[in-house]
Amino acid sequence: MNQIHTRRLRRALIAPVAAGVAACTLGAPHAAHADSARPDWLGAVVAEAGVDLEVVDGLTMRPEPPEMVLPVQDYRLTAHYGSAGGYWSSDHTGLDFAAAEGTELVAIGDGVVTGASYDGAYGYKTVIRLEDGTDIWYCHQSTQSVSVGERVSTGQVVGAVGSTGNTTGPHLHLEVRPGGGDPVDPEAALAEWGLRP
Ligand SMILES: [Zn+2]
Repeated sequence: MNQIHTRRLRRALIAPVAAGVAACTLGAPHAAHADSARPDWLGAVVAEAGVDLEVVDGLTMRPEPPEMVLPVQDYRLTAHYGSAGGYWSSDHTGLDFAAAEGTELVAIGDGVVTGASYDGAYGYKTVIRLEDGTDIWYCHQSTQSVSVGERVSTGQVVGAVGSTGNTTGPHLHLEVRPGGGDPVDPEAALAEWGLRP
């Protein structure tokens, strides 16, 4: 099969296949690929392309971008990025999620732990570097449950909400630092990852 022919076949197959099994894209190739479940339109496309059905059976679906999750459940936002005052001497550099002491904190995405120590006003702070190089800071923790160098996956518990450092009560102070640099508005960053706290 020449290259143009291959490309045309891919174009013809991938879009409808992706649409047809959208609910299964996070898992392994689905049973819908089996001969018995192949829809009529797929047979027609393959027949038109003039290739063997084995090509279709070998088709690997492109997985969707990795799912991201919010760092904590059952929370109330108590301070947004950039708000002045309170315990902060300058503009607020993160987003505050008030939650009960001990509430689990989870990795918002896959990454590596690059920090897990006490950091003054931030209290017990865990830093997760996501695969795109963005650092996520989890501050004021009561406990830390991962160590520097450890790989974490989305949703994995990394610690618990606390009130260590400068706080008026238990909450997560979340910071988002692209490339390990200056903080950006976490709400905007989370929105880009499909998350709306
Ligand atoms: Zn804060």
